[in-house]
Amino acid sequence: MLFINGSWMPAQSGHTFSSTDPATGEVLGVVADAGRADAVRALEAAQAAFGEWSRKTGHERSAVLYRAWELMLERQEELAKLMSREQGKPLRMARTEVRYAADFLLWFAEEAKRVYGETIPSARADQRFLVMRQPVGVASAITPWNYPISMLTRKIAPALAAGCTIVVKPAEQTPLCAIETIRVLDDAGVPSGVVNLVPSSDPVEVGDELVTNEVVRKVSFTGSTEVGRIIASRAAHGMKRVSMELGGHAPFIVFDDADPVRAAKGAAALKSLNSGQACICENRVFVHRSIAREFTEVLVERMGRMKSGHGLSDGVSIGPLIDLAAIDKMQRHVDDAVAKGAICAVGGKRLKGEEYDDGYFWAPTVLTGVGPDMLIYREETFGPIVPVIEFDDADDVVAMANDTTYGLAAYVYTQNLGRALRTAEALDFGMIGINDINPTSAAVPFGGVKQSGLGREGAREGLLEYLDTKVCGISMEAV
Ligand code: NAP
Repeated sequence: MLFINGSWMPAQSGHTFSSTDPATGEVLGVVADAGRADAVRALEAAQAAFGEWSRKTGHERSAVLYRAWELMLERQEELAKLMSREQGKPLRMARTEVRYAADFLLWFAEEAKRVYGETIPSARADQRFLVMRQPVGVASAITPWNYPISMLTRKIAPALAAGCTIVVKPAEQTPLCAIETIRVLDDAGVPSGVVNLVPSSDPVEVGDELVTNEVVRKVSFTGSTEVGRIIASRAAHGMKRVSMELGGHAPFIVFDDADPVRAAKGAAALKSLNSGQACICENRVFVHRSIAREFTEVLVERMGRMKSGHGLSDGVSIGPLIDLAAIDKMQRHVDDAVAKGAICAVGGKRLKGEEYDDGYFWAPTVLTGVGPDMLIYREETFGPIVPVIEFDDADDVVAMANDTTYGLAAYVYTQNLGRALRTAEALDFGMIGINDINPTSAAVPFGGVKQSGLGREGAREGLLEYLDTKVCGISMEAV
């Protein structure tokens, strides 16, 4: 069903599409398939609701978000199970994602009360400047399948906290998770029209309306750089504010003074995040030649013993990939690397057998001897393959890490604090893990530089994305 102006409804065309389990191919549900007319209706509802919602106090908006946070945690288990089935991630990781999604509701429930302005001294003795922050207006959000609940709350929560209303188009592969997320907000008391949902099997038609319609003042997109480029250029025509959370190609640098075992455990755990389908997963591991052997042995052993399977099965740490195109990309990256001299130390193939034949399972893989001429060195892989590149010169490795059009996350392992900070400062990336594989939290800004995006989500910065700045110059002359 679509959710427009506080009601669940079919698409105007009557069309539907189905959502399937990527591990089994089983149809999980049938969803209304929004078209352009539905997107227009949803935007009109958001526009109509904006006045009243934006005039509520921050404390009132906070109370609704706080209730949504409570409800999401109450429903954690059912949401996590749905996510495991629809998106494929192991249940343990799905629970973590639901908690992360709920964190944004809580964080922005708190921030809603802190939309501070400023006063600025004037050069004129008889004047004062007052700076106010006001909601930008109607926002639209287009979200990916890999984090099908948290990518919604990361946008909806700050929009609502700021006083904006919003229309969301979730990914075609994960509409059921989006529907249950919106149900949480509806049950928490979000007024009609403030949040609207238009799942669609035609991203171009609905997406284009959400990006170009005159009422939209802010577009927030998470997905690939390729699609982000299209959306940003369409939004530019209407001079709309944009946030772009795009692809990554994270370097993972292990210096010679690092503990190779701890670093290898970190690299394996980071790659298992959503089966390698996370924008912050490492995609190029640079390890100093002097410790490469020990590092690689532990990495291969860890990746090799990861159990693949349905996200709801016991002991599984790697779920299916999202579709056949993802399997084809893994094959292409492995074939290309091996043809150019890389060695496949473990994995390297699609998994076969009764448990796997109906899904899209790729064996956890480590490639060694990877070099700059290989596809995997240049492209985001988005799957459970770790490419290892040995380096000799610490001065060269930052340049190698920066040699990409992406700039989202990067990781540095060293026991030398000065080296860690120098490297972090020199890396052209938005988020740096130092001896740590998770530099993210609702409390810190998430986002990238270069072609990984524009703007930040989470933290204080995430709220500013939905606020305009207004200045009042006030004369103090007696009237
Ligand atoms: P995607 O193919 O770019 O799709 C993202 C969203 O855009 C989906 O809702 C999709 O709809 C929609 N879309 C596709 N073509 C469109 C068009 N021409 N106009 C308007 N909307 C369009 O990305 P994905 O495969 O879902 O997600 C994986 C990518 O997201 C990776 O590159 C990953 O790194 C990135 N990502 C980034 C972050 C971050 O915070 N930086 C977080 C998560 C993921 P359909 O589903 O119907 O195609």
